[in-house]
Amino acid sequence: MSLWLLLASLPAYADNSITGLRLGGTTIEGGAGLRVVIEQENPITAELFILDNPYRLVIDSPQTSWNIPSLPPSGSLDKAPAISYRFGIPKPETGRLVIELNAPAAPLRAFTLPPRSRGGNISGHRLVIDLVDRGATAFRVAQAALKKQPFIAEIDDKQAARDASQKTAAAQSTSEAKALPAKPAQTQPKIKPQPAGTSVQIQTPSARPERWVVTIDAGHGGKDPGALGGRGTREKDVTLKAAKALAAYLNRTGKVEAKLTRTTDKFIHLRKRIQIARDQKADIFISLHADAAQSKSAHGISVFSLSDTASDKEAAYLARSENQADLIGGPDLSLEDPEAANELLRMFQRESMNESTYLAKFILDQIQDLRGGVKRGHRFAGFAVLKSPDVPSVLVEMGFLTNREDEKNLRRDAYIELVASRLGKAIIKYLEQSGR
Ligand code: ZN
Repeated sequence: MSLWLLLASLPAYADNSITGLRLGGTTIEGGAGLRVVIEQENPITAELFILDNPYRLVIDSPQTSWNIPSLPPSGSLDKAPAISYRFGIPKPETGRLVIELNAPAAPLRAFTLPPRSRGGNISGHRLVIDLVDRGATAFRVAQAALKKQPFIAEIDDKQAARDASQKTAAAQSTSEAKALPAKPAQTQPKIKPQPAGTSVQIQTPSARPERWVVTIDAGHGGKDPGALGGRGTREKDVTLKAAKALAAYLNRTGKVEAKLTRTTDKFIHLRKRIQIARDQKADIFISLHADAAQSKSAHGISVFSLSDTASDKEAAYLARSENQADLIGGPDLSLEDPEAANELLRMFQRESMNESTYLAKFILDQIQDLRGGVKRGHRFAGFAVLKSPDVPSVLVEMGFLTNREDEKNLRRDAYIELVASRLGKAIIKYLEQSGR
């Protein structure tokens, strides 16, 4: 008997089956999200990815069938942004669950949980995926990251038990309790079975928003003046003026809705600035600064993007001093530390770092003829304010307040307008060419 015949003659066989699908609300990184819980009979191996037009989350599990007696393999969902689901076997021996979304919600957290006994009921192995809509660019960053390196959830009971007791303790006590009622009969309140033959109404969101959102961050503020110039120029004033000029430039194009992290002289924690950009569903984040140096001859414009390792000593020193801004305001305990984020976010961070590099190149192209525009170039450092895992982010040091000529320039409205227009041009070019 040939191998082919041997394989073909084997009975249809699945190692695993999906026995539950539940949706509920959750909170992740300070935002409201959708929690999808998939329950399987045996330990879960699943590959996650996301697709657009229409937006959807796809979960591929090897050797897996659909086995939820109360639900047909496709139907509508009424828990936004999920609008429908379907199960199929598009490639041999792979069960695929597709959850269609009416917004660009990307998975920002995914983990597995072992079976749990509660009230006499034993749940199956669970895969928990938290989706958050952070806008089209964040979705694109996540999509590109997952395409390069699919996220594989593999249950490891010991690890999952640790996860359950540590990482997700807070989420468990709040949203999972709601998302996972004890009795299987009551576990699908949000899912409406789809009668056979009924077509599902699918709303196709447009992939491109009306206007891009650019969050402009005026560095420092309030009790943190930033660098000081020889003539008493305060960095926080220069950055606010430049941020407003850049916002005006971008808004005038009609292509961008510019938003500021601050419009007045007030102190904001660095991570709060990131959070503001994410809440605004920013397509990009740009932080404006004007540095100080020991050497009065240091001058020129530097464009920075995030890296674990600084490109040079000066960049490392600068990042350290900029990060000190948070110490001025006292400890910030209000937000999760993006650095301690989960594996998915680390993947997205790498992708977002690539995008940020690309954006920085567009900026460098535009500032070449400005004073010191080619001198300092694009550098890398661990600026806290650039650590958004899903928003391409750059930091621009517009000049040195400790250099006489730079300080003189930065005090002139016309120069600020000039720098703002160049940054604006670069941002528009980046957005137009970023494949959306
Ligand atoms: Zn600064």
